[in-house]
Amino acid sequence: MLTTEQLTGRDERHLVALARGHRLQPLAAAAFARLRGDAREAGFDLAIASSYRSFERQRLIWNGKAGGERPVHDDVGNAVAILALPAAERIRAILRFSALPGTSRHHWGTDLDVYDAAAVPDDYVLQLSPQEVAPGGVFDRLHRWLDAQMAAGTSHGFYRPYGVDRGGVAPERWHLSYAPLAAGCGGRVTAALLRDCWDCEREPLLLRSELEARLPELLERYVEVPADWCPSPFVDGDAGGS
Ligand SMILES: [Zn+2]
Repeated sequence: MLTTEQLTGRDERHLVALARGHRLQPLAAAAFARLRGDAREAGFDLAIASSYRSFERQRLIWNGKAGGERPVHDDVGNAVAILALPAAERIRAILRFSALPGTSRHHWGTDLDVYDAAAVPDDYVLQLSPQEVAPGGVFDRLHRWLDAQMAAGTSHGFYRPYGVDRGGVAPERWHLSYAPLAAGCGGRVTAALLRDCWDCEREPLLLRSELEARLPELLERYVEVPADWCPSPFVDGDAGGS
């Protein structure tokens, strides 16, 4: 079981190094190597775009977006004038695509974003956009293959916590989660744990007081995922996290 620090991306000792600076927990890394081998036989080059991400990295993303220094987009890809919005709407616009620091599933070492490196040229600029994974998109074939593996129970424990739009986090077909380890993590991310986590950090989190005022609601809408995101053998009172 992960410690509180590991759950919130502030301790990296449970991780192993993969190629290109990526990191996962050892069991998740071994399972991903098996999935990658199956994908290779099916003609795909299953590559990692993002794996473990620290609290500090997520805080920089959050503060960059909340402070207007990093772009924020809406559902159809238009830039949002974030500083012109009231705090509650600023929070909603950011949470649609970026996790609250301390709640990202990428903190756990169980989750990763993937693409098919064989489907695009070497100089392709990866976007992880809805268009890339939609029918007819460059990674559509890979995701159909992954869907089939999940349906057949041959995805080596990987499933999609954000496969469909539930009104909170935008759908992310590229985000895979290793259920045997991740299923027990989500339910542990509570408002109290998060407040303690933020208190321990020296660098401020922008919009913190506005976040604290509605934490239970934000956790329910943007962090928890329904128990059926993975098959029942793995479920362990899970509540997920983006
Ligand atoms: Zn992701």
